[in-house]
Amino acid sequence: MALASAATASPWDLEAEAVAVKIRWFGLIVGWLYVHLVSHAEATLPLNAILALGGVYTLLDTWYSYRGRVFLGGYPLAISLLEAIFIGLLCYYDGGLDSVFRFYYLLSLICCAIRHPLRITYLTCGLDCISYSVLYLALPAEQREPFRWLLMLLILAWVTGAAGALSRLIRQAGEQLEELNRALRENQALLEARIEERTRQLQETQAQMLHQEKMAAFGLLAAGIAHEVGNPLASISSLVQMLERRDSDDYTRERLHLLAGQLRRIQGILRELIQFSRPANSERTRFRVHEIVEEALNIAKYYKGTKSRTIRAEVPPELPPLWGKRDQLVQVMFNLILNAIDATQKNGTIVIAAQRDPAGVLLSVQDDGMGIPPEHQPRLFQPYFTTKKTGTGLGLFVTAKIVQEHGGTVEFESQPQRGTIFRIRLPSADSLAS
Ligand code: ADP
Repeated sequence: MALASAATASPWDLEAEAVAVKIRWFGLIVGWLYVHLVSHAEATLPLNAILALGGVYTLLDTWYSYRGRVFLGGYPLAISLLEAIFIGLLCYYDGGLDSVFRFYYLLSLICCAIRHPLRITYLTCGLDCISYSVLYLALPAEQREPFRWLLMLLILAWVTGAAGALSRLIRQAGEQLEELNRALRENQALLEARIEERTRQLQETQAQMLHQEKMAAFGLLAAGIAHEVGNPLASISSLVQMLERRDSDDYTRERLHLLAGQLRRIQGILRELIQFSRPANSERTRFRVHEIVEEALNIAKYYKGTKSRTIRAEVPPELPPLWGKRDQLVQVMFNLILNAIDATQKNGTIVIAAQRDPAGVLLSVQDDGMGIPPEHQPRLFQPYFTTKKTGTGLGLFVTAKIVQEHGGTVEFESQPQRGTIFRIRLPSADSLAS
């Protein structure tokens, strides 16, 4: 039998129980003082015995309440019955209908109203009325005073109504407060989530702007250098051509020819640099997958370490065309290729592949480099996450943004010391048009 309703005890039950325990102790102490200091009752032994029993019960009640439980919480009517018998006996041994212990009925009712629904309080009132009526009948005929008996019953009914209504008011106010509190907590959580989301958006925008500024500065610098170097280069080139046309010995002609070849190479590099660094075209166009891979590789070939890696591009030209901002997707490929170069040792291999995908095209950049440790993987696309000495941590963040804006997805698989593969899925131009 469960003596305590621990699992079901709500904060309200426990608070109410604590108040009831205090009222009980108050009643017991006043009762004990009354028996020993004021009352002239002869039957002190049974009175003391009943009070001691009440004391044991109150101790148990206190102990349970102290441990956050409600003693006999599931049996409120059993408690009311015990109390009705207890008070009836106290009155009987003390002085009958006039005994001060009859006020215990009121305490019992108030405790009940605080702790239980109105229905239980009314039933308790009924039990108390029966107890008082039995007392009335148990008394010798000359001590029975119908008026006193009736008055007490009326007082009991009145206290029951008043205490019940008061308790219901307090309960309702408590429930409303609880409801307001819950709404407040919900709003607070919502507000915190919004602030978090806005902060994240702000950080991302800031990172994106920083990256764009960096690219723009790089573009300006490259264009400036290309211009400055381009003019003297054009003069040297025409001078070499002039000298080539002159009559000269075989040795000089061969050397001039070599010189002209190297100059053409430098001019080619400058052209590519200017091409890459020109302001990104934000117009959406239709283009082929192999074009963006080739363009990214054209620039990547000047990156340190490219020559000592084997870079293979397996991009069939007949893949479905893509639609979007071409320059941005070149940049995506460029970021992934540079990361793959950084992750591999000398003689490492990087494979850039592309194939049809149900929604469009699947592009992948695979390397056999150092891989990504599992603890870094969740942070890879966050802005500013980098493990490189001179890294910015913006490459993958911007890559993911661009791919998302093109309706695609980026994912990766990596095994430490074995390598990494980044996969990008992009919708074809035709699937976007339909
Ligand atoms: P950055 O290149 O400036 O560090 P990225 O956003 O491009 O910025 O990359 C973030 C980090 O992700 C890198 O510092 C590196 O640790 C890791 N990473 C990216 N690509 C690879 C790869 N292919 N292999 C191993 N680690 C990689």
